[in-house]
Amino acid sequence: MLPYGRQSISDADVEAVTAVLGTDWLTTGPAVTRFEEDLSAVCGGNPAVAVTSGTAALHVAYAAAGVGPGQDVVVSPLTFVATASAAALHGARVIFADVDADTGNLDPAAVEMALTPHTTVVAGVDYAGHPIDADPLRTLAHDAGALLLEDAAHSVGGTWQGRPVGALADLTTLSFFPTKNLTTAEGGAVVSPDPALVEGARSFRNHGLVRDRDRQRFPDEGPWHQEVHAFGLNYRLPDLLAALGSSQLTRLAAFTKRRTEIHARYDTAFADVAEVRTPVTRGGADPAWHLYPLRVLDGRRRELFEFLREQGIGVQVNYVPAYWHPVFADLGYRRGLCPNAEQYYAQEISLPLFPDLTDADVDRVAGLVREFLGYGG
Ligand SMILES: *Cc1c(COP(=O)(O)O)cnc(C)c1O
Repeated sequence: MLPYGRQSISDADVEAVTAVLGTDWLTTGPAVTRFEEDLSAVCGGNPAVAVTSGTAALHVAYAAAGVGPGQDVVVSPLTFVATASAAALHGARVIFADVDADTGNLDPAAVEMALTPHTTVVAGVDYAGHPIDADPLRTLAHDAGALLLEDAAHSVGGTWQGRPVGALADLTTLSFFPTKNLTTAEGGAVVSPDPALVEGARSFRNHGLVRDRDRQRFPDEGPWHQEVHAFGLNYRLPDLLAALGSSQLTRLAAFTKRRTEIHARYDTAFADVAEVRTPVTRGGADPAWHLYPLRVLDGRRRELFEFLREQGIGVQVNYVPAYWHPVFADLGYRRGLCPNAEQYYAQEISLPLFPDLTDADVDRVAGLVREFLGYGG
């Protein structure tokens, strides 16, 4: 089966991980600090806090933003459920706002309608790797006394109006799962230009422990003393995985370039096919494409999915609207809430896209899609 996404691992990656095994620091060591610095460099110089997954990054980011009971978080429904569930786990109410029909990204007009006096975070998703419309979203959020969070699990390495992902929102979260644009096996990060938010993220990642004597309530307890001022968890990314991340980052630009080439090759292959809609790139966006979300307009998405799977092509559908998950349905969220996201979901199929995919693979996949739609073999 040709997968829809997979990692690209080099000999240098293997050496970087192996080298850490011989050091004193398997975790909480210098490879983590270095990875955070390397990530910061691709995120406009904003500090990065490495964590154990993209889901952990969201949980940590919402914690840093102070999300809790009695508060509302506005979330895009066209996402992996973690964007919403991480806020729900902090006790907040999730309010879904619809997406733009072309990009699948949070629609600022829908956000404006969704804001309440209790909104503390607006969480957009760089769907498929295309950055959110950050400026209006940030303005709307700030005017409402809220923060803008960008779930950039798909988009590290992309830019919007010349600014890199990681420099667009108050909080940016990344995922380094193997299918994503770069990997640490499992891993993620929170990036923020705001020192208080970075400090909040570091604290929640590490049990909320306070080691700085000047900040302790009982500094004279003894030289061993550390104390907890706010609850946190252990979301620390080990050095082994951080070393893989730093090694992968040296190839991020090459990964992004290859992903862009494949995207363009699919676009060309479908240019004359009336039954599909190829992904849109807005002016000002230079996406780091994670997905190739093709939309099937003739109602046969499921048939195409099954046909391609039978042919050994590992297609995916990204995503079932988050509020369709029974956990949200049971809370009273109803179908029909976000029509654009629901229509996007009904039409979408993600074709294979990863750096080691060959042109011949792309042509084979595109040829099968064309064949299915009656455009010859
Ligand atoms: C992958 C993903 C996540 C979760 O990341 P993990 O590293 O798998 O926990 C969150 N949001 C989006 C949009 C994702 O694609």
